[in-house]
Amino acid sequence: MNDYKLLTPGPLTTTATVKQEMLVDRCTWDDDYKAVTLNIRKELLRLAHVTEPEYTAVLMQGSGTFGVESVLSSVVGDGDKVLICSNGAYGLRMTDICTHAAIPFVHYAVPYDCIPDAGRVAELLARDPAITHVAMVHSETTSGILNDIEAVGQAVKAAGRTFIVDAMSSFGGMDIPVADWGIDFLVSSANKCIQGVPGFSFIICRRDKLLASQGKARSLSLDLLEQWETMERDGKWRFTSPTHVVLAFAKALEELAAEGGIRARHRRYEYNNRMLIEKMKGLGFNTYISGEHQGPIITTFLYPQGVSFRFADFYRYVKARGYAIYPGKLTELDTFRIGNIGEIYPEDIEAIVSIISDYLKEAAK
Ligand SMILES: *Cc1c(COP(=O)(O)O)cnc(C)c1O
Repeated sequence: MNDYKLLTPGPLTTTATVKQEMLVDRCTWDDDYKAVTLNIRKELLRLAHVTEPEYTAVLMQGSGTFGVESVLSSVVGDGDKVLICSNGAYGLRMTDICTHAAIPFVHYAVPYDCIPDAGRVAELLARDPAITHVAMVHSETTSGILNDIEAVGQAVKAAGRTFIVDAMSSFGGMDIPVADWGIDFLVSSANKCIQGVPGFSFIICRRDKLLASQGKARSLSLDLLEQWETMERDGKWRFTSPTHVVLAFAKALEELAAEGGIRARHRRYEYNNRMLIEKMKGLGFNTYISGEHQGPIITTFLYPQGVSFRFADFYRYVKARGYAIYPGKLTELDTFRIGNIGEIYPEDIEAIVSIISDYLKEAAK
């Protein structure tokens, strides 16, 4: 198998030391193992700038979507209604989740290169008192756009509703003061900016809102309150926990602290991102998202003009030289995406840009 680094939004390139943690088998009811889960939950609250008892953290088996589905299907009751603000595939996925589970929702969709407007959210909430919850994505990985959850959170809080945020591809790579921004449920996963491996998601919850969800869950295995109640006892997971992934995640949290915490990681990601965009512009690639809304996680580039450009060829060429990139996720435009999170440093950005420059030269021959 070819060895390559991932310039994708997760799973992403992890350190050798994080991977090393997975070489040991753990017993799920062992006290030492359960303590690892309890420590992870504590550390996640610290990273979110919240404390117990106002907030608590729950870990949930499965990929990030399982976490989002767990929250929506557990806390929005049959008599409630959630306003979903979307500007990409992950926002749309929330509407899919609601359709599948027959969760009442209304949809406020904006074009993928625009952000949901806090004033508009306030209007929608004022007009429809039946709306009890608002859900939206922070970093829309579909395009790389960064949504203003702080402004929307203020509108939601002012209207006395519950705010659910999918911060999958931002938490750990961007500072999110969860309580200050009025977030009641924040979902992220092990394999994004914390730089662990895939296998579980986690939810930072306002404890009173979590407790208020009693009796609302539609799914057995994704029941958020049940999961929390079991985990809260002594750190044991309700069903088989992804032991190797949990150990790797604990190590990844240590390494995040050693790097200097979220602020330091954010600086590295942002530096990578700005450097990538600047150098790609030098090669003639424009970004889909305008500078003001472009987030520091992943960038969507438009195909270059005047060169024959096939993504499959391009991907193979780049991979053979040590990097995996991402196809675009827009239907109306030809694009590809490059992520800059994970164990990625300026020398990797130099390298990828130089590979792309070589590709263009060869393609022009
Ligand atoms: C990665 C991601 C998810 C979860 O996707 P999975 O494939 O289930 O891990 C959800 N929302 C956003 C914004 C993401 O980037």
